[in-house]
Formats: sequence, structure tokens, C-alpha cells
Amino acid sequence: MAQSGPAPSFPVFEVSAQTPGRIEVGVQMGVLVDSSRALTRQQVMSSAQPWQTISRQSPNFGFTDDAYWFRFQIDNQGAQEARRLVELPKPYIDDVQLYHYAGGQLKTSYALGDEKPFAQRPVRHPSFIMPLTLAPGANLIYIRLASTGTIEAPFRIWDLVQFHEAGNDESLIQGAVIGILLIMIVYNLFVFFSTRDVDYLYYICFVASFLLFYFTMTGYTFAYVWPRAIRWNSFAISTFISSATLFACLFARSFLKLRSFSMPAFYLLRVLTTASALMLVLTFVLPYNVTVRIGAILGALASVIALTVGYWRWWRGARFARFYCLAWTAVLIGIGILSASKFGLIPFNAWTNHAPQIGIVLLVVLLSFTLADRINTDRSLRVNAQAVALAHERKARASQEALIRGKEEANRQLEQRVKARTTELNNTLDQLQVANDRLQLLSTTDGLTQLSNRAFFDNALATEHRRACRLKSSLSLILFDIDHFKQINDTHGHPGGDACLRALANLMRARIHRTGDVLARYGGEEFVILLIDSGPQDSMALAERFRADIEKLLVEFDGGPIRFTASFGVACGIPDGHNSPQDFLASADKALYQAKRDGRNCVRSAAVASGAT
Ligand code: GH3
Ligand code: MG
Ligand code: MG
Repeated sequence: MAQSGPAPSFPVFEVSAQTPGRIEVGVQMGVLVDSSRALTRQQVMSSAQPWQTISRQSPNFGFTDDAYWFRFQIDNQGAQEARRLVELPKPYIDDVQLYHYAGGQLKTSYALGDEKPFAQRPVRHPSFIMPLTLAPGANLIYIRLASTGTIEAPFRIWDLVQFHEAGNDESLIQGAVIGILLIMIVYNLFVFFSTRDVDYLYYICFVASFLLFYFTMTGYTFAYVWPRAIRWNSFAISTFISSATLFACLFARSFLKLRSFSMPAFYLLRVLTTASALMLVLTFVLPYNVTVRIGAILGALASVIALTVGYWRWWRGARFARFYCLAWTAVLIGIGILSASKFGLIPFNAWTNHAPQIGIVLLVVLLSFTLADRINTDRSLRVNAQAVALAHERKARASQEALIRGKEEANRQLEQRVKARTTELNNTLDQLQVANDRLQLLSTTDGLTQLSNRAFFDNALATEHRRACRLKSSLSLILFDIDHFKQINDTHGHPGGDACLRALANLMRARIHRTGDVLARYGGEEFVILLIDSGPQDSMALAERFRADIEKLLVEFDGGPIRFTASFGVACGIPDGHNSPQDFLASADKALYQAKRDGRNCVRSAAVASGAT
């Protein structure tokens, strides 16, 4: 479209019904840098100025204090005047002046900028829109840009219809972005109120700051939110960059739990946080051209560090960091795509043009997702920990119960064993008692006749002597001996003698049953009877009766019935200090001896000496 003839720094754009409805003027314009910022329109238009063509791939001149002049020519090919719009979609430029010459005359001029009230704009639009009525033929356009921020000049010439169409699309996209971000803010605000998790607050503040930053950059806030707040609008971008950086840092620091992860990373983020907080305050004090540069550097630094730390955290095993990384990566990719398309590396279209918006939406949505994801992770960790604790407790309780059961079992066994041992012991004691009793019996009983033996008798005699001594009662002894027993043995054999002894014992046992009286076998065929409290007459009578009974006794034996007699010696007296049990025995023996001498089968008595006699 550039024609031959005019200087290359004065490009010509043809406008007709056939030319495209949107013409990107951008890098093709002639440019004149005015470092003094003092050149007048007349000076600029004089041919002496060093106009150049823009030797960059994007009409972006960065942060600069210079004023920039641009020029181009629009050739209206038609025979009538044509209405066109010149757009500068960079609403944060402080000072925008446009001069439109046709036929050597100044036809239109505009003095716009974000430092002038919004209401003064010729078209109420977030971008700078300057309507032109192009005269047929050549129309010269001179534009001056000056700003404390960056100078960007992506000028476009619009056909009215196309402009409205594109504007509708753009409004839809921006509206969608605003809507999505607002919804995320409100939604996460509710989540914050229910969880009280401070990360949500950081997230909300970050998204809000970013939203405001983005829509201040695109001119929407000035157009719709604070159209009269010129002073504020002149540095609001700086403020929002700083607050977005501040909350991004706070969010990253808290969300990635850097304190427990890496102290250097934690301190780095803390320094950035402090710096951006300081910058946030300083944006209200220092000039915009200073704060916006530092703010942008801090913002870029924070993004890179937050993303690096995020990936580091993810790499070191924190699964919850993955969506965080994806979120930030999405924005960077978006910005990357836009830049690449602007530099012609990839085709410029609606998608690449809106890549940052898509990136931002992805960022906000993914970050929100990140928070939810981490809540899930935390919850499952908590649930797991609870389950483990529960299992431990159950185990502890089980072992405690087992211990108690074991103790009970041991007690039961011990009790059983003690019982068994006690029973055993009692049995043994019983057996011992029985054995003792039996031993006692054996030691005091004569085996052949089952009468008491001599030892028992001596003992009983001593006891009864003492008692009678105390009671001063009388005591009698009857000692008797079978006559000619030797002959019985000789005639009938020893078993015959034994039979006689047993028969005699049975006979006498049946007759002696008074309590205290004792019948005993005193020697081979010699027996003795102790009579308690029995006087001489009674004893003598008793002995006589026994003698008669024996005489009548018939012992049945194999070799024929056996008869025998016995001789009796009776000793009677009152025990006292002058006699002893032996005295009683001696007296009885003496009497028995006398009976033997007197022919046997008779009863004789002998008195026992006492203190009284
Ligand atoms: P006496 O009339 O003078 O008493 O004459 P005796 O033969 O009865 O007296 P002696 O003392 O001379 O004899 C007693 C005999 O008794 C001697 C002994 O062999 C016998 N004898 C002693 N103990 C037992 C016994 O347990 N069984 C039998 N069968 N004989 C016995
Ligand atoms: Mg005898
Ligand atoms: Mg004898």
C-alpha cells in the first residue's frame, strides 16, 4: 500500500470500500523521537526533522520519558468524504494528540490521555478512539504520544461497521473474563468464610488485584469505575501491580508451606513480600514512572520465583503443588503466545490475541482448583492419620485386654493350682492323720488280740494314778495269767495257743466297757485290767466272775475244743504320794503269784501301801 514518491517515513494507507475494515498502522508509521518533549506541531511538520521508519517488530518503545511523534497518510480513494476511526488500544498513555490535515488545512485535532476526564473523550470507549472524516485524496495524520509509563503505538484505522463488530466481540470476551474472575472471587470468599483458611483470602486479594490491574490496563476501570478520578487513574496500575505481587507472594509462601520446606525460599519470598508491600504504599507517594518500573520488575521477579519454587516443591514430592504450577504456567504461556504473535513468530489471530486472557482465566480457575485439591489432600492426610491413630488405639486396647485376660487366666490357674495343692495337702494331711492314727493304734495295740498293749497300759495307769491321786478315789488292778499255757501250746500247737488268747481277749472285751477302765495284754498269756474308782470288794467280785467265765469258755479248734483256766491277782488302793503305779503292778503280780501257788484258777488280792495305811 505504500506508494512510491513519499518518504518511507511517511507511509500511505489507502482507504476505500474495497480496503479492509481494519488496517494495522503499527510499525509502518514514521516516527520522530522528541527527547526535549518541547517540539511544537509546526516544528514537527517542517521537513527538517529526522523522521524515521519504526525499526522494530512491535510499536512498543518501553518505559521512556521521551515524547514520540508518529505520522502517516490516509488516501481516501472515494469521491466523497469517508468516516473512519483511529484507535489506540493503550488507555494508560498520559497524553495523546492527533492532528488531521487535509488539503493543507487542519481538519480535526484531538487531545486525549488518561490524565483527562473520561467524559471529554470523543467516543466513550476504554481505548482511545478518534473519529476522522477523511476528505477525498490525501489526509495527513500526525500523532504525539507522551507518558510516564510505556509508549506503545499499535494504531489501527477502523471502518465503523467493523469497529462495532470487533468491539462487540471484545466486550463479550472482556465481560466473560470479568465475570469469571468475579465469580471466582465470590465463590472463594464463601469458601474462606466457611474454612477460615487464610490462603483463600490471599487468593481472593490476588485475583481482585489482578482483575483491577488488568481492567485498568485495558481502560475499563477508567471508563466504567472511576471516570473522574484522573489522579488516581494515573498511578492505579502501579498500585495494582504491587498489590497483585504482594498477594501472589503471600499466597505462594503460605500455600507452598515454604517455612517447613526451605528456609531460603521462605526468606526470599518474605523479602519480596515486604518489598511489594512497601511499593504498594509508595505508589501513592512516588511518581508513577518510578513506581511502575519497580513494580513491574518486582512482579516479574515474583512470578518467576513463585513458579520456580512451585516446580521445586512439586519435584520434591508435594503433589498439591501441581495445579499451582499449571496455573502460573498457563499465564506465562498466554503472555508468551501473545508476544510471539506480536513479533510474528506465530500467526496473529483471535486466539493468540486473547491468549493472556485465556491464561488469566486458567490461572484463576486452576488456583482455585489448587486450593480445593489441597483441602482434599489435607483431609485425606488427616483421615489417614486418624485411621492410623485409631488402629494404634485399637491395637493398644486389644493388647491391654489380652494382658487383662492373661492376668485373669493366670489368676484363675493360680487359684486352681492353689486349690488343687490345698486339696492335695489336705488329702495328704488326712492320709497322714489316718496313718498317724493307725500308727498310734498300732503302737498302742496288740496285734494278736487287738487289745491295748503294755505300753498303752503303762501310760494309762500313770495317768489314772495321777487323777485318782487328785480325786482321792480308789484304783484297782486285776492281773491274770492263763494256767499251764505251755501245755496248750504243746498239745494244740502255737496256733491253738493263739486261738485261746484271741478267745480270751474277746470274752474280756465284752465285759470291760466302763469309761476309763482299761483292758490290756500285758505279756505272753498275761492280761491286766485297770478299774477306775473301784474298791477291793467290787474288784475281787469282778475278778471272781471273770475267773468263772474263763473256766466255762470253750475254744473251738481243729484239734478239738480247748478249755483252760486263769489265775487272778488283784491289787487295790488309793493312790497318793506314798505309792506309785509300779507299786500297784507289783502288788497285783504278788497276788497273782500267790494264786498260782495256791493251785491256780483262783483269785488273790494284795493291798497297796498308802499314806493312810
Ligand atoms: P503257769 O501255770 O505256771 O503259768 O505255767 P505256764 O506254762 O502257763 O507258764 P510259763 O510262763 O512257763 O509258760 C508260758 C508259755 O506261754 C511260754 C510261751 O511259749 C507261751 N506263750 C507266750 N506267748 C505266747 C503266744 O503269743 N502264743 C502262744 N501260742 N504261746 C505263747
Ligand atoms: Mg501261765
Ligand atoms: Mg505266764
